[in-house]
Amino acid sequence: MDNLHKLELSKEEMRAYGYKVIDTLVDHFTTQNDKSPVAIASRKEMDDIFQEDVPNLPSDPDQVLDFVTQHVLPNSNIVSHPKSYSFVPGPSNYVSVMADTLATGFNIFSGGWAASPAAAELEIVTMNWLLKLFKFPSKKGGGIFTSGGSMANLTALVTARRQKCGDDFSKAVIYMSDQAHSSNVKAIRVIGFKKEQIRIIPTDGEFKMALNKLKNAISKDRLSGLQPFCIIASAGTTNTGTVDPLEEIGVICKKEKLWFHIDGAYGGAAMLSQKGSKALKGIEKADSLTIDPHKWLYQPYEMGCLLVRKSKWLHDTFVEKPEYLRDIEGNTSEINFYDHGIQLTRRFRALKFYMSLKTFGLEAFRKAVSYNINIAEDVETMLRKSSKWEVVSPATLAIINFRYNPIELDLNDAQIDALNQEISKRIIQSKESLLVTTVLNNQVVLRMCLINPRTTMDHIMETFTACEKFAILILEEQSVK
Ligand SMILES: *Cc1c(COP(=O)(O)O)cnc(C)c1O
Repeated sequence: MDNLHKLELSKEEMRAYGYKVIDTLVDHFTTQNDKSPVAIASRKEMDDIFQEDVPNLPSDPDQVLDFVTQHVLPNSNIVSHPKSYSFVPGPSNYVSVMADTLATGFNIFSGGWAASPAAAELEIVTMNWLLKLFKFPSKKGGGIFTSGGSMANLTALVTARRQKCGDDFSKAVIYMSDQAHSSNVKAIRVIGFKKEQIRIIPTDGEFKMALNKLKNAISKDRLSGLQPFCIIASAGTTNTGTVDPLEEIGVICKKEKLWFHIDGAYGGAAMLSQKGSKALKGIEKADSLTIDPHKWLYQPYEMGCLLVRKSKWLHDTFVEKPEYLRDIEGNTSEINFYDHGIQLTRRFRALKFYMSLKTFGLEAFRKAVSYNINIAEDVETMLRKSSKWEVVSPATLAIINFRYNPIELDLNDAQIDALNQEISKRIIQSKESLLVTTVLNNQVVLRMCLINPRTTMDHIMETFTACEKFAILILEEQSVK
Protein backbone atom coordinates (compact mmCIF):
# COMPACT_ATOMS: atom_id res chain seq x y z
CA MET A 1 0.00 0.00 0.00
CA ASP A 2 2.62 2.56 -1.13
CA ASN A 3 0.22 4.67 -3.13
CA LEU A 4 -2.30 5.45 -0.47
CA HIS A 5 -2.53 9.12 -1.41
CA LYS A 6 -3.58 8.05 -4.92
CA LEU A 7 -6.14 5.62 -3.47
CA GLU A 8 -4.35 2.74 -5.12
CA LEU A 9 -3.50 -0.82 -4.21
CA SER A 10 -0.55 -2.58 -5.83
CA LYS A 11 -1.21 -4.94 -8.71
CA GLU A 12 -0.68 -7.99 -6.48
CA GLU A 13 -2.91 -6.57 -3.79
CA MET A 14 -5.67 -5.86 -6.31
CA ARG A 15 -5.52 -9.40 -7.63
CA ALA A 16 -5.57 -11.02 -4.22
CA TYR A 17 -8.38 -8.72 -3.12
CA GLY A 18 -10.42 -9.38 -6.25
CA TYR A 19 -10.01 -13.16 -6.06
CA LYS A 20 -11.16 -13.08 -2.49
CA VAL A 21 -14.25 -11.07 -3.42
CA ILE A 22 -15.08 -13.49 -6.23
CA ASP A 23 -14.53 -16.49 -3.94
CA THR A 24 -16.92 -14.92 -1.44
CA LEU A 25 -19.52 -14.41 -4.17
CA VAL A 26 -19.20 -17.91 -5.57
CA ASP A 27 -19.46 -19.35 -2.06
CA HIS A 28 -22.60 -17.32 -1.56
CA PHE A 29 -24.14 -18.42 -4.86
CA THR A 30 -23.41 -22.09 -4.16
CA THR A 31 -24.49 -22.13 -0.52
CA GLN A 32 -27.25 -19.53 -0.27
CA ASN A 33 -30.00 -22.15 -0.56
CA ASP A 34 -28.73 -23.72 2.68
CA LYS A 35 -28.61 -20.43 4.55
CA SER A 36 -31.58 -18.73 6.16
CA PRO A 37 -33.34 -16.11 4.03
CA VAL A 38 -34.13 -13.95 7.06
CA ALA A 39 -31.86 -11.49 8.85
CA ILE A 40 -33.08 -9.86 12.03
CA ALA A 41 -31.11 -7.25 13.95
CA SER A 42 -32.00 -4.30 16.14
CA ARG A 43 -30.53 -0.83 15.80
CA LYS A 44 -28.61 -1.46 19.01
CA GLU A 45 -27.08 -4.68 17.72
CA MET A 46 -26.00 -2.96 14.52
CA ASP A 47 -24.67 0.07 16.40
CA ASP A 48 -22.62 -2.19 18.62
CA ILE A 49 -20.93 -3.72 15.61
CA PHE A 50 -20.52 -0.72 13.32
CA GLN A 51 -20.53 2.61 15.14
CA GLU A 52 -17.10 4.26 15.08
CA ASP A 53 -15.51 7.58 14.24
CA VAL A 54 -14.35 8.08 10.69
CA PRO A 55 -11.01 6.28 10.37
CA ASN A 56 -8.16 8.70 9.71
CA LEU A 57 -5.50 6.09 9.24
CA PRO A 58 -5.42 3.15 6.83
CA SER A 59 -6.31 -0.42 7.74
CA ASP A 60 -5.22 -3.68 6.24
CA PRO A 61 -7.44 -4.18 3.14
CA ASP A 62 -7.87 -7.85 3.94
CA GLN A 63 -9.12 -7.11 7.41
CA VAL A 64 -11.68 -4.60 6.16
CA LEU A 65 -12.88 -7.11 3.61
CA ASP A 66 -13.11 -9.88 6.20
CA PHE A 67 -15.02 -7.63 8.57
CA VAL A 68 -17.54 -6.84 5.82
CA THR A 69 -17.87 -10.50 4.86
CA GLN A 70 -18.45 -11.42 8.47
CA HIS A 71 -20.74 -8.66 9.64
CA VAL A 72 -22.28 -6.73 6.76
CA LEU A 73 -23.19 -9.34 4.19
CA PRO A 74 -24.95 -11.80 6.54
CA ASN A 75 -27.09 -9.05 8.09
CA SER A 76 -29.48 -8.71 5.16
CA ASN A 77 -32.33 -10.86 3.99
CA ILE A 78 -31.31 -13.13 1.12
CA VAL A 79 -33.88 -12.04 -1.44
CA SER A 80 -32.61 -14.60 -3.96
CA HIS A 81 -33.17 -17.46 -1.51
CA PRO A 82 -35.67 -20.10 -2.74
CA LYS A 83 -37.71 -19.59 0.45
CA SER A 84 -37.82 -15.82 0.12
CA TYR A 85 -41.49 -15.54 -0.84
CA SER A 86 -42.39 -12.06 0.29
CA PHE A 87 -42.59 -8.63 -1.30
CA VAL A 88 -41.05 -9.19 -4.71
CA PRO A 89 -37.99 -11.43 -4.44
CA GLY A 90 -34.82 -10.67 -6.40
CA PRO A 91 -33.64 -14.00 -7.82
CA SER A 92 -30.70 -12.37 -9.69
CA ASN A 93 -28.07 -14.30 -11.66
CA TYR A 94 -24.30 -14.61 -11.52
CA VAL A 95 -23.53 -13.43 -15.07
CA SER A 96 -25.31 -10.14 -14.45
CA VAL A 97 -23.44 -9.74 -11.18
CA MET A 98 -20.16 -10.05 -13.06
CA ALA A 99 -21.45 -7.66 -15.73
CA ASP A 100 -22.21 -5.08 -13.03
CA THR A 101 -18.72 -5.62 -11.67
CA LEU A 102 -17.24 -4.86 -15.08
CA ALA A 103 -19.46 -1.83 -15.63
CA THR A 104 -18.48 -0.46 -12.24
CA GLY A 105 -14.84 -1.47 -12.63
CA PHE A 106 -14.47 0.43 -15.89
CA ASN A 107 -16.68 3.16 -14.41
CA ILE A 108 -18.48 3.59 -17.69
CA PHE A 109 -20.40 6.83 -18.01
CA SER A 110 -23.67 5.89 -19.66
CA GLY A 111 -25.07 9.38 -20.14
CA GLY A 112 -24.03 10.44 -23.61
CA TRP A 113 -23.10 8.84 -26.87
CA ALA A 114 -19.71 10.53 -27.15
CA ALA A 115 -18.60 9.29 -23.73
CA SER A 116 -19.40 5.65 -24.44
CA PRO A 117 -20.85 4.80 -27.84
CA ALA A 118 -20.98 1.09 -27.08
CA ALA A 119 -22.86 1.60 -23.82
CA ALA A 120 -25.45 3.77 -25.57
CA GLU A 121 -25.65 1.25 -28.41
CA LEU A 122 -26.24 -1.66 -26.01
CA GLU A 123 -29.00 0.30 -24.31
CA ILE A 124 -30.58 0.84 -27.74
CA VAL A 125 -30.12 -2.82 -28.73
CA THR A 126 -31.54 -4.27 -25.51
CA MET A 127 -34.36 -1.70 -25.55
CA ASN A 128 -35.23 -2.90 -29.04
CA TRP A 129 -35.40 -6.47 -27.74
CA LEU A 130 -37.87 -5.30 -25.11
CA LEU A 131 -39.91 -3.20 -27.54
CA LYS A 132 -40.31 -6.28 -29.68
CA LEU A 133 -41.20 -8.51 -26.74
CA PHE A 134 -43.95 -6.09 -25.66
CA LYS A 135 -45.12 -5.50 -29.26
CA PHE A 136 -44.33 -1.79 -29.12
CA PRO A 137 -43.53 0.09 -32.36
CA SER A 138 -39.99 -1.06 -33.10
CA LYS A 139 -38.83 1.92 -35.16
CA LYS A 140 -40.50 4.82 -33.40
CA GLY A 141 -40.61 3.34 -29.92
CA GLY A 142 -37.97 3.90 -27.31
CA GLY A 143 -37.22 3.79 -23.64
CA ILE A 144 -34.67 4.18 -20.91
CA PHE A 145 -33.19 2.06 -18.14
CA THR A 146 -33.72 3.49 -14.68
CA SER A 147 -32.77 2.56 -11.16
CA GLY A 148 -36.07 0.73 -10.71
CA GLY A 149 -39.82 0.71 -11.23
CA SER A 150 -40.39 3.79 -9.05
CA MET A 151 -38.10 5.89 -11.22
CA ALA A 152 -39.61 4.42 -14.39
CA ASN A 153 -43.10 5.40 -13.19
CA LEU A 154 -41.84 8.87 -12.29
CA THR A 155 -40.22 9.27 -15.70
CA ALA A 156 -43.45 8.11 -17.37
CA LEU A 157 -45.63 10.55 -15.47
CA VAL A 158 -43.37 13.52 -16.20
CA THR A 159 -43.55 12.55 -19.88
CA ALA A 160 -47.32 12.08 -19.80
CA ARG A 161 -47.80 15.46 -18.17
CA ARG A 162 -45.54 17.23 -20.66
CA GLN A 163 -47.33 15.65 -23.62
CA LYS A 164 -50.88 16.10 -22.35
CA CYS A 165 -50.82 19.24 -20.17
CA GLY A 166 -47.83 21.32 -21.14
CA ASP A 167 -46.90 23.71 -18.34
CA ASP A 168 -50.32 24.18 -16.76
CA PHE A 169 -51.47 21.08 -14.97
CA SER A 170 -53.59 22.79 -12.34
CA LYS A 171 -56.78 21.08 -13.54
CA ALA A 172 -55.27 17.76 -14.60
CA VAL A 173 -56.63 14.56 -13.04
CA ILE A 174 -55.05 11.12 -12.98
CA TYR A 175 -56.72 7.73 -12.39
CA MET A 176 -55.52 4.45 -10.93
CA SER A 177 -57.03 1.59 -8.93
CA ASP A 178 -56.85 1.00 -5.19
CA GLN A 179 -54.42 -1.83 -5.96
CA ALA A 180 -51.96 0.36 -7.91
CA HIS A 181 -48.44 0.41 -6.48
CA SER A 182 -47.65 3.20 -4.01
CA SER A 183 -44.75 4.41 -6.17
CA ASN A 184 -47.32 5.89 -8.55
CA VAL A 185 -48.92 8.13 -5.96
CA LYS A 186 -45.45 8.97 -4.69
CA ALA A 187 -44.35 9.99 -8.21
CA ILE A 188 -47.48 12.09 -8.71
CA ARG A 189 -46.83 13.88 -5.43
CA VAL A 190 -43.14 14.35 -6.25
CA ILE A 191 -43.99 16.12 -9.51
CA GLY A 192 -46.24 18.56 -7.72
CA PHE A 193 -49.81 17.38 -8.09
CA LYS A 194 -52.23 17.87 -5.23
CA LYS A 195 -53.94 14.91 -3.58
CA GLU A 196 -57.24 16.16 -5.02
CA GLN A 197 -55.90 15.53 -8.52
CA ILE A 198 -55.63 11.79 -7.92
CA ARG A 199 -58.66 9.49 -8.31
CA ILE A 200 -58.37 6.09 -6.69
CA ILE A 201 -60.81 3.82 -8.51
CA PRO A 202 -62.17 0.84 -6.52
CA THR A 203 -61.50 -2.69 -7.73
CA ASP A 204 -63.95 -5.51 -8.35
CA GLY A 205 -64.05 -8.91 -6.59
CA GLU A 206 -60.99 -10.02 -8.57
CA PHE A 207 -58.98 -6.89 -7.68
CA LYS A 208 -59.30 -5.43 -11.19
CA MET A 209 -60.02 -1.75 -11.75
CA ALA A 210 -63.81 -1.38 -11.98
CA LEU A 211 -64.42 0.05 -15.46
CA ASN A 212 -67.84 1.49 -14.78
CA LYS A 213 -66.50 3.39 -11.80
CA LEU A 214 -63.56 4.60 -13.88
CA LYS A 215 -65.88 5.90 -16.61
CA ASN A 216 -68.12 7.60 -14.05
CA ALA A 217 -65.15 9.35 -12.46
CA ILE A 218 -63.88 10.63 -15.81
CA SER A 219 -67.32 12.01 -16.82
CA LYS A 220 -67.82 13.64 -13.47
CA ASP A 221 -64.43 15.32 -13.64
CA ARG A 222 -65.10 16.63 -17.14
CA LEU A 223 -68.47 18.01 -16.03
CA SER A 224 -66.68 19.79 -13.18
CA GLY A 225 -64.35 21.51 -15.65
CA LEU A 226 -61.32 19.40 -14.76
CA GLN A 227 -58.89 17.84 -17.23
CA PRO A 228 -58.58 14.05 -17.09
CA PHE A 229 -55.17 13.31 -18.61
CA CYS A 230 -53.83 9.90 -17.62
CA ILE A 231 -54.88 6.42 -16.52
CA ILE A 232 -52.40 4.16 -14.78
CA ALA A 233 -53.30 0.49 -15.20
CA SER A 234 -51.53 -2.31 -13.35
CA ALA A 235 -50.16 -5.25 -15.32
CA GLY A 236 -49.69 -7.49 -12.34
CA THR A 237 -50.51 -5.82 -9.03
CA THR A 238 -47.94 -6.42 -6.35
CA ASN A 239 -50.54 -7.82 -3.96
CA THR A 240 -52.21 -10.43 -6.13
CA GLY A 241 -50.63 -10.35 -9.60
CA THR A 242 -53.94 -9.16 -11.01
CA VAL A 243 -53.92 -7.54 -14.44
CA ASP A 244 -56.37 -4.68 -14.99
CA PRO A 245 -58.59 -4.96 -18.11
CA LEU A 246 -55.89 -3.48 -20.34
CA GLU A 247 -57.71 -3.65 -23.67
CA GLU A 248 -60.82 -1.94 -22.30
CA ILE A 249 -58.77 0.73 -20.54
CA GLY A 250 -56.88 1.26 -23.79
CA VAL A 251 -60.19 1.91 -25.55
CA ILE A 252 -61.23 4.41 -22.87
CA CYS A 253 -57.88 6.22 -23.15
CA LYS A 254 -58.23 6.45 -26.90
CA LYS A 255 -61.79 7.70 -26.77
CA GLU A 256 -61.08 10.21 -24.00
CA LYS A 257 -57.63 11.15 -25.38
CA LEU A 258 -55.89 10.19 -22.16
CA TRP A 259 -52.33 9.01 -21.66
CA PHE A 260 -52.25 5.26 -21.07
CA HIS A 261 -49.53 4.28 -18.62
CA ILE A 262 -49.17 0.65 -17.61
CA ASP A 263 -47.24 -0.25 -14.49
CA GLY A 264 -45.87 -3.69 -15.29
CA ALA A 265 -43.01 -3.45 -12.80
CA TYR A 266 -44.09 -6.67 -11.21
CA GLY A 267 -45.95 -8.62 -13.90
CA GLY A 268 -44.62 -7.32 -17.23
CA ALA A 269 -41.99 -10.03 -17.46
CA ALA A 270 -44.76 -12.65 -17.65
CA MET A 271 -44.90 -11.66 -21.33
CA LEU A 272 -42.12 -14.22 -21.80
CA SER A 273 -44.51 -17.12 -21.14
CA GLN A 274 -47.54 -18.18 -23.14
CA LYS A 275 -49.92 -17.94 -20.20
CA GLY A 276 -48.48 -14.59 -19.20
CA SER A 277 -48.70 -13.02 -22.63
CA LYS A 278 -52.34 -14.09 -22.79
CA ALA A 279 -53.03 -12.50 -19.41
CA LEU A 280 -51.28 -9.32 -20.53
CA LYS A 281 -53.22 -8.90 -23.75
CA GLY A 282 -53.57 -5.20 -24.50
CA ILE A 283 -50.22 -4.26 -22.91
CA GLU A 284 -49.05 -3.19 -26.36
CA LYS A 285 -51.68 -0.44 -26.35
CA ALA A 286 -49.88 1.58 -23.66
CA ASP A 287 -48.28 4.94 -24.36
CA SER A 288 -45.74 4.12 -21.68
CA LEU A 289 -44.93 0.90 -19.84
CA THR A 290 -42.87 0.31 -16.72
CA ILE A 291 -41.09 -2.98 -16.35
CA ASP A 292 -38.56 -3.89 -13.72
CA PRO A 293 -35.77 -6.22 -14.85
CA HIS A 294 -34.44 -6.42 -11.28
CA LYS A 295 -37.58 -8.35 -10.36
CA TRP A 296 -38.82 -11.04 -12.72
CA LEU A 297 -36.15 -10.67 -15.41
CA TYR A 298 -33.67 -11.96 -12.85
CA GLN A 299 -31.30 -8.99 -12.85
CA PRO A 300 -29.52 -7.80 -9.70
CA TYR A 301 -30.41 -4.34 -8.32
CA GLU A 302 -30.74 -1.75 -9.67
CA MET A 303 -32.50 -1.99 -12.99
CA GLY A 304 -35.89 -0.68 -13.99
CA CYS A 305 -37.08 0.23 -17.45
CA LEU A 306 -39.55 2.54 -19.10
CA LEU A 307 -40.76 1.80 -22.63
CA VAL A 308 -42.61 4.43 -24.68
CA ARG A 309 -44.55 4.24 -27.90
CA LYS A 310 -42.57 7.18 -29.32
CA SER A 311 -38.95 7.72 -28.39
CA LYS A 312 -39.40 11.37 -29.33
CA TRP A 313 -41.69 11.90 -26.31
CA LEU A 314 -38.80 11.26 -23.92
CA HIS A 315 -36.50 13.56 -25.84
CA ASP A 316 -39.13 16.34 -26.00
CA THR A 317 -39.71 16.04 -22.27
CA PHE A 318 -36.19 15.82 -20.92
CA VAL A 319 -33.86 17.63 -23.32
CA GLU A 320 -32.19 20.68 -21.79
CA LYS A 321 -29.03 22.06 -23.29
CA PRO A 322 -26.71 23.88 -20.95
CA GLU A 323 -23.65 25.42 -22.64
CA TYR A 324 -21.16 22.91 -21.32
CA LEU A 325 -22.97 20.01 -22.97
CA ARG A 326 -23.23 21.74 -26.35
CA ASP A 327 -20.09 20.41 -27.94
CA ILE A 328 -20.91 16.81 -27.32
CA GLU A 329 -24.36 16.66 -28.91
CA GLY A 330 -24.31 13.72 -31.30
CA ASN A 331 -26.51 13.55 -34.35
CA THR A 332 -30.07 12.49 -33.74
CA SER A 333 -29.52 8.82 -34.41
CA GLU A 334 -26.88 8.61 -31.72
CA ILE A 335 -28.91 8.78 -28.53
CA ASN A 336 -27.72 10.69 -25.49
CA PHE A 337 -29.68 9.00 -22.76
CA TYR A 338 -29.29 12.02 -20.48
CA ASP A 339 -31.78 13.64 -22.89
CA HIS A 340 -34.29 10.81 -22.36
CA GLY A 341 -34.62 10.85 -18.60
CA ILE A 342 -33.69 12.53 -15.36
CA GLN A 343 -30.10 11.40 -14.75
CA LEU A 344 -27.04 12.88 -16.45
CA THR A 345 -24.42 10.59 -14.97
CA ARG A 346 -25.79 7.09 -15.26
CA ARG A 347 -24.37 3.67 -14.59
CA PHE A 348 -24.18 1.16 -17.44
CA ARG A 349 -27.29 -0.90 -16.68
CA ALA A 350 -27.76 -2.36 -20.14
CA LEU A 351 -24.60 -4.46 -19.85
CA LYS A 352 -25.96 -6.98 -17.35
CA PHE A 353 -29.16 -7.41 -19.28
CA TYR A 354 -27.20 -7.86 -22.51
CA MET A 355 -24.67 -10.32 -21.11
CA SER A 356 -27.18 -12.46 -19.22
CA LEU A 357 -29.47 -12.76 -22.24
CA LYS A 358 -26.56 -13.57 -24.55
CA THR A 359 -25.20 -16.13 -22.11
CA PHE A 360 -28.37 -18.00 -21.12
CA GLY A 361 -30.52 -17.19 -24.18
CA LEU A 362 -34.08 -15.90 -24.17
CA GLU A 363 -35.45 -19.45 -24.16
CA ALA A 364 -34.00 -20.03 -20.68
CA PHE A 365 -35.73 -16.89 -19.44
CA ARG A 366 -38.99 -18.04 -21.05
CA LYS A 367 -38.72 -21.42 -19.32
CA ALA A 368 -37.94 -19.82 -15.98
CA VAL A 369 -40.96 -17.48 -16.14
CA SER A 370 -43.26 -20.33 -17.23
CA TYR A 371 -41.93 -22.48 -14.39
CA ASN A 372 -42.72 -19.68 -11.92
CA ILE A 373 -46.30 -19.31 -13.18
CA ASN A 374 -46.87 -23.07 -13.12
CA ILE A 375 -45.49 -23.67 -9.65
CA ALA A 376 -47.86 -21.05 -8.20
CA GLU A 377 -50.72 -22.92 -9.87
CA ASP A 378 -49.47 -26.18 -8.37
CA VAL A 379 -49.52 -24.54 -4.93
CA GLU A 380 -53.10 -23.44 -5.55
CA THR A 381 -54.14 -26.99 -6.49
CA MET A 382 -52.45 -28.35 -3.39
CA LEU A 383 -54.11 -25.79 -1.09
CA ARG A 384 -57.56 -26.42 -2.56
CA LYS A 385 -57.22 -30.09 -1.65
CA SER A 386 -56.36 -29.29 1.94
CA SER A 387 -59.02 -28.86 4.63
CA LYS A 388 -56.67 -26.57 6.56
CA TRP A 389 -55.94 -23.92 3.97
CA GLU A 390 -58.12 -21.51 2.08
CA VAL A 391 -57.13 -19.78 -1.18
CA VAL A 392 -57.99 -16.08 -0.93
CA SER A 393 -56.66 -14.97 -4.31
CA PRO A 394 -55.85 -17.67 -6.88
CA ALA A 395 -52.43 -18.16 -8.48
CA THR A 396 -51.97 -15.21 -10.82
CA LEU A 397 -48.67 -14.45 -12.53
CA ALA A 398 -46.79 -16.46 -9.90
CA ILE A 399 -48.45 -14.82 -6.88
CA ILE A 400 -50.87 -16.63 -4.57
CA ASN A 401 -52.65 -15.45 -1.41
CA PHE A 402 -54.04 -17.88 1.13
CA ARG A 403 -54.75 -18.35 4.81
CA TYR A 404 -54.77 -21.03 7.42
CA ASN A 405 -58.40 -21.73 8.23
CA PRO A 406 -59.10 -25.39 9.13
CA ILE A 407 -62.73 -26.27 8.48
CA GLU A 408 -63.08 -28.26 11.69
CA LEU A 409 -62.11 -25.31 13.91
CA ASP A 410 -64.85 -23.00 12.63
CA LEU A 411 -62.90 -19.83 13.52
CA ASN A 412 -64.33 -16.34 13.15
CA ASP A 413 -62.69 -13.63 11.01
CA ALA A 414 -60.83 -11.95 13.83
CA GLN A 415 -59.42 -15.29 14.99
CA ILE A 416 -58.30 -16.23 11.48
CA ASP A 417 -56.60 -12.85 11.05
CA ALA A 418 -54.78 -13.14 14.35
CA LEU A 419 -53.76 -16.72 13.69
CA ASN A 420 -52.29 -16.01 10.26
CA GLN A 421 -50.51 -12.91 11.52
CA GLU A 422 -48.96 -15.00 14.25
CA ILE A 423 -47.98 -17.81 11.86
CA SER A 424 -46.09 -15.28 9.75
CA LYS A 425 -44.44 -13.80 12.81
CA ARG A 426 -43.21 -17.19 14.02
CA ILE A 427 -42.04 -18.32 10.59
CA ILE A 428 -39.93 -15.19 10.33
CA GLN A 429 -38.66 -15.42 13.90
CA SER A 430 -37.62 -19.01 13.22
CA LYS A 431 -35.93 -17.70 10.02
CA GLU A 432 -37.33 -20.73 8.17
CA SER A 433 -38.62 -18.60 5.32
CA LEU A 434 -39.50 -15.04 4.50
CA LEU A 435 -43.30 -15.17 4.45
CA VAL A 436 -45.19 -12.03 5.44
CA THR A 437 -48.86 -11.12 5.32
CA THR A 438 -50.82 -8.66 3.25
CA VAL A 439 -54.40 -7.47 3.57
CA LEU A 440 -57.07 -8.30 0.98
CA ASN A 441 -60.71 -7.35 1.49
CA ASN A 442 -59.86 -6.51 5.10
CA GLN A 443 -58.58 -10.03 5.68
CA VAL A 444 -55.05 -10.82 6.82
CA VAL A 445 -53.61 -13.28 4.32
CA LEU A 446 -50.28 -14.95 3.66
CA ARG A 447 -48.74 -14.16 0.28
CA MET A 448 -46.23 -16.06 -1.82
CA CYS A 449 -44.51 -14.45 -4.79
CA LEU A 450 -42.85 -17.35 -6.56
CA ILE A 451 -40.57 -15.75 -9.14
CA ASN A 452 -37.43 -17.59 -8.13
CA PRO A 453 -36.68 -20.32 -10.71
CA ARG A 454 -34.75 -22.22 -8.03
CA THR A 455 -37.75 -22.54 -5.69
CA THR A 456 -39.01 -26.13 -5.80
CA MET A 457 -42.19 -27.77 -4.55
CA ASP A 458 -40.02 -29.32 -1.79
CA HIS A 459 -39.05 -25.88 -0.51
CA ILE A 460 -42.69 -24.84 -0.55
CA MET A 461 -43.87 -27.98 1.24
CA GLU A 462 -41.27 -27.46 3.96
CA THR A 463 -42.64 -23.99 4.50
CA PHE A 464 -46.26 -25.19 4.69
CA THR A 465 -45.27 -27.93 7.10
CA ALA A 466 -43.55 -25.36 9.29
CA CYS A 467 -46.62 -23.08 9.10
CA GLU A 468 -48.91 -25.91 10.20
CA LYS A 469 -46.60 -26.83 13.05
CA PHE A 470 -46.65 -23.22 14.29
CA ALA A 471 -50.43 -22.98 13.83
CA ILE A 472 -50.97 -26.01 16.07
CA LEU A 473 -48.61 -24.57 18.69
CA ILE A 474 -50.36 -21.21 18.64
CA LEU A 475 -53.79 -22.81 19.03
CA GLU A 476 -52.54 -24.97 21.89
CA GLU A 477 -51.12 -21.92 23.67
CA GLN A 478 -54.44 -20.14 23.26
CA SER A 479 -56.46 -23.03 24.68
CA VAL A 480 -54.13 -23.15 27.72
CA LYS A 481 -54.87 -19.45 28.35
C1 LIG B 1 -41.96 -3.08 -7.24
C2 LIG B 1 -43.00 -2.29 -7.93
C3 LIG B 1 -42.80 -0.92 -8.21
C4 LIG B 1 -41.60 -0.17 -7.71
O1 LIG B 1 -40.43 -0.62 -8.32
P1 LIG B 1 -39.00 -0.43 -7.59
O2 LIG B 1 -38.09 -1.13 -8.52
O3 LIG B 1 -39.12 -1.08 -6.25
O4 LIG B 1 -38.73 1.03 -7.49
C5 LIG B 1 -43.78 -0.28 -8.93
N1 LIG B 1 -44.90 -0.91 -9.35
C6 LIG B 1 -45.11 -2.22 -9.09
C7 LIG B 1 -46.36 -2.87 -9.60
C8 LIG B 1 -44.18 -2.96 -8.37
O5 LIG B 1 -44.41 -4.26 -8.09
